Amino acid sequence: MPQETGVKRVYLLDYGVLAGEPGWFIPNPLLYVEMGDVRRIAEKHKWIEIPVTGALVEHRDGYVLFDTGSHPEASKVWTQATWQVFPMVKFSDENRVENQLKLVGLKPEDVTFIVLSHMHLDHLGQAYVFKDAKTPLIVHKKEIQNALYFYWLNRIGAYQPVDLEALKGANWYPIDVTHFELLPGVEIIWVGAHTPGSIMLRVTTNEGNSYIFTGDFTHLPQELEVENKGWLLADLDEYISGMKLLKLMLRRPRTNVVISHDPDLWSKYPKAPKFLV
Ligand SMILES: [Zn+2]
Repeated sequence: MPQETGVKRVYLLDYGVLAGEPGWFIPNPLLYVEMGDVRRIAEKHKWIEIPVTGALVEHRDGYVLFDTGSHPEASKVWTQATWQVFPMVKFSDENRVENQLKLVGLKPEDVTFIVLSHMHLDHLGQAYVFKDAKTPLIVHKKEIQNALYFYWLNRIGAYQPVDLEALKGANWYPIDVTHFELLPGVEIIWVGAHTPGSIMLRVTTNEGNSYIFTGDFTHLPQELEVENKGWLLADLDEYISGMKLLKLMLRRPRTNVVISHDPDLWSKYPKAPKFLV
């Protein structure tokens, strides 16, 4: 029997669906050259739809929420330029974090820690729900610094002012290390690349299975084949070393990768209230 870590169950949460030009996520030539028509890149009907997801780890020492999805009123509160580039094409009441938690019998105040893969709009958008409860918000220090820097320069992209303003004075825990075990079997691993403070979460259950939640270090499974990313790449050097690290981790037995925006995610893994062990 594997040594117990304390991780009993891992639930995957459904925060709706976002759409975008595929070039954001994967290098364009891969998708378009074989179609023989690079002019189609800008055509909206070629956009892809990707799920927005999170995870809830049930541990004997508490509940860890990984990412919080998009703001429920995104079409109204995001900057219009951003909404036009990354619209949420599906979001209903069931995709609110309160209702995702309710599927497993929890309320927001039952969450012990929130870990943010990074602070982009589709990951930070419902963290405000936990502000009054003072739930610890754990993020890499580089990520807060980068988000606020861009905001201050008025370079509004995937960091949204509405999200940042709502969380001023929240119970932030910026970490400045590349590896941190939050609870036994729940590890935060810095990778950068997509944003300076992007992290992955590795969860190892009592059963001895590991799940690596990549956040947006990888958006699509094809990235593992081509070891390259579309326009949403901040640092290629970090990406290459992070990809090699991810692949080394995946060589370990009973280790699975969970790519939060994988278009086929829900055919590979069950949604809450079903769970992984
Ligand atoms: Zn994302």
